[in-house]
Amino acid sequence: MINDGKVVSIHYTLKDDEGNILDSSEGKSPLDYLHGASNIISGLEDALLGKAVGEKVSVRIAPEDAYGMTDDGKKQVVSREMFGDHAVEVGQQFHAADPEGNSIVVTVTHIDKDEITVDGNHPLAGMHLTFDVEIVNIRDASEDEKSHGHAHGPGGHHH
Ligand code: ZN
Repeated sequence: MINDGKVVSIHYTLKDDEGNILDSSEGKSPLDYLHGASNIISGLEDALLGKAVGEKVSVRIAPEDAYGMTDDGKKQVVSREMFGDHAVEVGQQFHAADPEGNSIVVTVTHIDKDEITVDGNHPLAGMHLTFDVEIVNIRDASEDEKSHGHAHGPGGHHH
């Protein structure tokens, strides 16, 4: 059964409310995560608690339990000059620093002649997300995995 301290392997398909597939492990290795370590969004972790190998779970998760609400404070208009001679397109993503100095990913959402709008919200912020999950394996986490707070090995995190 899925519980804190288990490494869980799942196949998953993630859809938005219009049924568009946003992400899927289909055709890839299953995703390995360490349960109880916030490796995955809280709404999905809650839905998987207590499940067994072979079970299928379908769950629709509100933004508060997924990637949070959209925060307009994370949208910024910056001068085109900041990008120098680089070509910029809507949808491009850049690594940037937020005011606290944390590394964030910003997405270009609008381009004017002299100004570019970038959005530091997670691309899935503000969205209801539906996950269709199949549990393919459950094992005890190693001491290393517990101390690192993530799964190791195929499908997990590598060092
Ligand atoms: Zn590690």
